[in-house]
Amino acid sequence: MIERVEILFIQGSVVKVTTEKEAGELPALPQKAPEEKEEVSEEKPTHIVSARVLWDFNKVQMQRPTEHLMDVSGIKYDGTHTLERLEPLELDESSPTYARSNLLSTRDALADMHQYGSLLTGVFHSHPGRGRSAVHPSQTDIRNQKKLEDAGYKCISAVFSRDGWVRFFTVNSPFRVVVKGKGVECVEENLYKLKKAGDV
Ligand SMILES: [Zn+2]
Repeated sequence: MIERVEILFIQGSVVKVTTEKEAGELPALPQKAPEEKEEVSEEKPTHIVSARVLWDFNKVQMQRPTEHLMDVSGIKYDGTHTLERLEPLELDESSPTYARSNLLSTRDALADMHQYGSLLTGVFHSHPGRGRSAVHPSQTDIRNQKKLEDAGYKCISAVFSRDGWVRFFTVNSPFRVVVKGKGVECVEENLYKLKKAGDV
């Protein structure tokens, strides 16, 4: 389960920050994400994910006994999005089954992306379990992803298990994931397993 904060934009500047504490009404997000106003003509926009960024998040989350949450930035080129850089977020709360990002930290990460012309293209978080069954998104995960989609972000979410399973998901945005690099096996559509040489 994750909980996010919302950042609203007007003409490309961060002007207002709101929080949502828990389940309930979705917040009103009248402003579109500034970088994502362009319509993508493809029915299933491709998101190219660096294998390295999956391994990097896995390494970070394995060092923590509690759930972890990070934004991922990238670029958009010719209708394709990349997920290439982990954006550190401070967490206000993190338990074995729950993580909530810090308000100012989230705002700063988005502002930093904007400064370099990068976009929020992914949201990674970890679940405490093991195996492929551990990476199904919770209702809270789905709610948070929907908020981002409703705000115009063309980002996808991924859930990591403690043993290298990764599932990508969106709510209403069609997408196709392509993982490029070594050590990541596609098990089925949107489901991957991190494997090093010698892993069974
Ligand atoms: Zn979750």
